Parts: sequence; C-alpha cells; structure tokens
Amino acid sequence: MSSPHDSDADWTVHLLQLAARGNLGQAARGRLLDLPALAQTFTCATGACTPGRRAADARSCCADLEMTPTPEERAAIDGALPEIAAFMAPRDPRWAAGAPAIYEGDALRRAKDGTKGRTGARCIFAAEGPDGLSCGLHSLEDATKRPRGTLKPLPCRLFPLVLVEVDDGNTLLSAIHRNTARLAGSRPARAFPCIGAAGAPTVAESCADTITDLWGAKAAKKAQVAVAEWRARAE
Ligand code: SF4
Repeated sequence: MSSPHDSDADWTVHLLQLAARGNLGQAARGRLLDLPALAQTFTCATGACTPGRRAADARSCCADLEMTPTPEERAAIDGALPEIAAFMAPRDPRWAAGAPAIYEGDALRRAKDGTKGRTGARCIFAAEGPDGLSCGLHSLEDATKRPRGTLKPLPCRLFPLVLVEVDDGNTLLSAIHRNTARLAGSRPARAFPCIGAAGAPTVAESCADTITDLWGAKAAKKAQVAVAEWRARAE
C-alpha cells in the first residue's frame, strides 16, 4: 500500500455511491468521510494475526501487505539505519548479524527469520515478541522521543485508514472495508482479525490520534461524531 491514493475512476464511482446513499460525511471543508468504512470496529491485536500463531485465513498489515515508503520516508530510514540496526539486533534474529536488505523493489522487504517453529515472512522491521508482532520503527521512535512518523512510513501509520486525493480541493478518508479493499490494493477486510473485532471502538475512535495528526483535533472529533451519528441511524 502507498498513501495517499491518487484518485482514479473506481474511487470516483465509490465516492458517488457514498453520496447517493447518504454515506458520505464531512469533517471539515474538503475533508470527506467514508462513513461505513470508518464505522467498522477496529483494534490492533497482533496476537491474532502473527504468522505461525494465527488462524489459517487471518492476515496482518505487517506481514501480508506491501508497504511502500515515499522517497522522503526512505531517506529518513536510510539516514538512521545504523541506529535502527543497533535497536533491532537484540529484538529480531534477522538483524543479529547487522542490517539486512530492507527493500524489495520500492517496498519494505518481508522475510522469514529462520527460527524453528516460526512460519511466514513479515516486514523486516516487524519484531516478534510474546504478544505478537510490533513495529521496530514505531518502538524506536518512542524510545528516542521522536515524533510519530519520523521513521515509520505513512501507510503503516494509517492502517486500516486509507486517504484518497479526490481532486485538488478534496480528500476522502476511508478505511479497508468490504467495498474499498480492492480499490486500496489490500487483502479483503475480513482477512484482518483487527477489523470488525467484536466490542472494539470504531475505526474513527481507534485511529483518532492518526486522524488528528492528519487533519487536526477539531476535524478528528467531528469525524468521530459523524460516524457515531451514522451508526445510530444505521442501527
Ligand atoms: S514498517 Fe513497521 S508498521 Fe510498517 S509494515 Fe513494517 S513493521 Fe509494520
């Protein structure tokens, strides 16, 4: 996945359908909301999607999606590589002998770690611990008090959110959903145990920090209210 997604014909059709069905919200001028996608429940639970310990049909953003950083994000990772390698070495066997290859084409490389009993490849920055996968770039940002996104690419910060540049003045905030997964180049929404998790908050609530980073606190709050009102109408 790379984000924001350029507008194309399929996203335009999707947007028109949202509007025709009363499912298009607005968080601020030019900030459009895909209400059914944002009203799904969501909570990150990597224990349920980690290769080797997940259900046969479960998938993970860190193990199964192609994540493509922008040239600027790639430069930030490359510039911090010695520090990243030192941080990852005690956390992930793939880094024990120094920095491995981290790109496959333009995307972050996914690789197996060779540990007995572990199956499946995962992002080269996804360390496996007792609770499941965790992002080494995310953990290093926290450990060094770097702002979120200094190292962690935007598509990874967004999941399951999807940003679509509709035109010069409008951006649609959507999420991986049965109606959008194909448009976003993702696995189906039902493959991710975190999407639709019973009793979890909505995507708009769970991703409030990310939406605040993108659009500001006022728009993030307005998005939560619009989603809650839509859910109340839909029930
Ligand atoms: S960079 Fe981090 S969040 Fe992104 S896919 Fe890799 S482990 Fe997951």
